[in-house]
Parts: sequence; structure tokens; C-alpha cells
Amino acid sequence: MPGVTRRLGVRVVELIERKRDGGKLTAEEIDHLIQGYTKGEVPDYQMSAFLMAVVWRGMDAKETAALTASMVGSGERLDLSRFGRVVDKHSTGGVGDKTTLVVAPLVAACGLPVAKMSGRGLGFSGGTLDKLESFTGYRVDLTTAEFLAQLGRIGIVVTGQTKELAPADGLLYALRDATGTVPALPLIASSIMSKKIAAGAHAVVLDVKVGSGAFMKDLASARALARAMVAIGVAHGLAVTCELTDMEQPLGRAVGNALEVAEAIETLRGRGPADLLKLVRLAGAEMLVRGRRSRDTKSALAAVDRALSDGSGLAKLRELVAAQGGDPRAVDDPGRLPRAPRVEHLVARRTAFVAAIAADRVGTASVRLGAGREKKGDPIDLRTGVVLHAKVGDRVERGQSYAEVHVAGKPADSDAIEEIRAAFRWSARRVAPRRLILGRIASR
Ligand code: URA
Repeated sequence: MPGVTRRLGVRVVELIERKRDGGKLTAEEIDHLIQGYTKGEVPDYQMSAFLMAVVWRGMDAKETAALTASMVGSGERLDLSRFGRVVDKHSTGGVGDKTTLVVAPLVAACGLPVAKMSGRGLGFSGGTLDKLESFTGYRVDLTTAEFLAQLGRIGIVVTGQTKELAPADGLLYALRDATGTVPALPLIASSIMSKKIAAGAHAVVLDVKVGSGAFMKDLASARALARAMVAIGVAHGLAVTCELTDMEQPLGRAVGNALEVAEAIETLRGRGPADLLKLVRLAGAEMLVRGRRSRDTKSALAAVDRALSDGSGLAKLRELVAAQGGDPRAVDDPGRLPRAPRVEHLVARRTAFVAAIAADRVGTASVRLGAGREKKGDPIDLRTGVVLHAKVGDRVERGQSYAEVHVAGKPADSDAIEEIRAAFRWSARRVAPRRLILGRIASR
């Protein structure tokens, strides 16, 4: 009979009821649920009810650790110890976040192996895999053997998650997406960390985004998520640093796949926007320290700066793109990246300071332009998106362009352009730039 955890002698419905009523589940009970679901023995309707009970009642640290361990145990766990200490990096997702495209090559250029399994964009959150596919031919479906071989050969790999890693997470995430059960802290924390643990890194630097363009809308819930992820990492022997960073406005200036790749290349050439550069230096230095490649933050920052100024970070990106079948000529000539047929400018009607740029509205507009997907599997247009010419705190003169919108010529373009216009709030008085780095929670 489906839905019965036979060995435990407890029916799945009793576990659902216990969580519904605010009770606790043992590690064994959680494991039976998760493995049962992965094998198809627990049906979607029971797992959906259980997930909703978790949304309402939560899970304590022990339950969350058990859930994570069970998701890791649903597939293979890579052993990367032959490469020395390997560091991973992950962002909880935002608008215009192309940090990985810059920081992974920089850190690898400093001699620290970077093994990264990334995801695709969903809703207004962009995804690294989509961005990398702006390099014609870039493969995001490496096998485990290819992943390991490339890591050994060039010290960097950025691909999609293989089917063998934490398969329970893939199944659960799809179900959560369809049942309104994504926004639950223990579910988000275990989902992210199970993939990091299964992918074999020894340390992970997490960027927990906070604001309208992020999962976590306020600092208190972002801190709670960060604490939960650090606790899970520690329970599994990983060093974890969570940086809490602003996502009230988009990161950098470009939003949209090929546009973000072009900005990442500019940043690797030392000409990136100040906020992106700040985040890249912070995350890169933390990865080097956590990877024990640098003694302290000061020497790690010096190493990151060297890789920026001597071109070795850019060279590493070129090597990565070529190794995964992409066209590396686009690294030297971003004009080869996919380009939208038309660019529309938004022009200031009067001189004013930018008071706010709602990241969620810019993200939603970019989905409408085709740069993102409403639901998993939707096709996207790599060419479209937005480039912001002004950020919060900047003064814009009357008649000056404050944003350019790269459009493909679709019926939804004009709505998207209006959405971007509406994302901007203006002030006649001077406005302070937003604080980017909001906090840090880390294991020892
Ligand atoms: N990212 C993930 O990988 N999982 C979640 O549940 C949310 C964001």
C-alpha cells in the first residue's frame, strides 16, 4: 500500500498529522518519508500535505539536519579530496546577480579549485547556467566523470547539477513549486545545503540576498536562513560563511543573460560597477580564506586584486568557456554575444536623484522581455534585458537616459518598459547610496 513506512510500522498519514499538530519527527521517520518519496512509494498528495505542514509548523535544527542528510543520502556524494580543499559558492538568487561569472574564475586563477553546480533562473531570479549559455556551445550537462576530469585539468568547472546528486531535492523542489510550499526556511535551507554537501565541497561561501528581489524580504528572516544553513554545514563537516547582501535594487547595472555576461567580462577587465566589484572581492577573499589558500582576508584581497589586474581571472574564464565547448572568442569580443535587435532608452523627465529601483519589478520586467521564465522548462531569450545607467543615490539630469531596455520586438515589450519605468522612485533631494553588505554569519 502506498504511503506506509513499513519498517517503522508508522503510517505516513500519522507523520503528516504529527507535523500538522506541531509535533517532532525523528531522523529515521524523516528518512523514511524522503526515501519513500524518492522511490515513488509515498505519493505526491501525501508529500504535499507534509510539506504544507512544515510550512506552517517549521522544523527544529535536528529535524532540518536530518532532512538534509536524507536528501544527500538519496543520491551520490562526490569525494573531491584528491583535489585538496575545494570551495563552492552559492547565491540564494536575485536580480542582476552575475557574481559567480566573475568570482569563480578569479578564485580559480588564485590556485584554489572551484567546483560549482549551478541552476537555471526561475521567476525573476536569474540562473548562472542560462547566463553561461550566452557563450555559443557552452555545455551545462557534464557527466560526473567529465566534471572531475575538468576540475583536475584546469581547476574550475561550472555546470548543472547531475541527476545523481540529491535527486530527492529535484523531486521535492518541483512539488514545492507547484504546491505553494517553497517559502519555508527549513525546506530552503535543506534544499540548498543538500546540493552543496552532495557536490563534495569542503567549504561554501553563501550569499544570502535580502530585499524585494530576493526570497528573503527582510534581514531577520535572512539571518534565520543563514543560521540554519551554517548549522547544517557544521553538522556535515563543512565550513560555511553566509554574507547577507542587499537585493532591494538589482546588483550591478545589467539584468538579462548575455548583458550580464558582458558586464562580468567588463568586471574581470577591471571596469565593473562598484557594487558588483565590492561583492566579488568580498566573496573571492572569503573563498580563498575558507579554502586555506590565503592566510587572512588582507592577503586574500590582495590575491583577488592581482588576478583582476594581471588578467589571469579573465584568462581563467576563457579557459572555462573553451573547456565546456563554448566560444571563447566572446570573452575577448563581447560583440559576439547574442544581441537584441533594438534598444529603447528611458529618459529622465526632470533632474532628480534615484531614490529606489524595485528589484522585483525590474526582474519581472526582464521575464516579460523574455530574459527569464515563468515556469520551469520555458524557453528564454538570451539577448534581452535591461542596463541601468543610474543606481540609487545617483543624480540624473533632465533628458538623460537612466536605463536602456534591450527588446526582441514582442507584444509584451511595452508593458515591460512601463514596469521598468515604474520600478524607479525619484527624489528632489540628495539620496544616500544603499548599503550593500548587511551582515555575516559564519561557522568557525
Ligand atoms: N534555492 C534552492 O536551491 N532551493 C530552495 O528551496 C530555494 C532556493
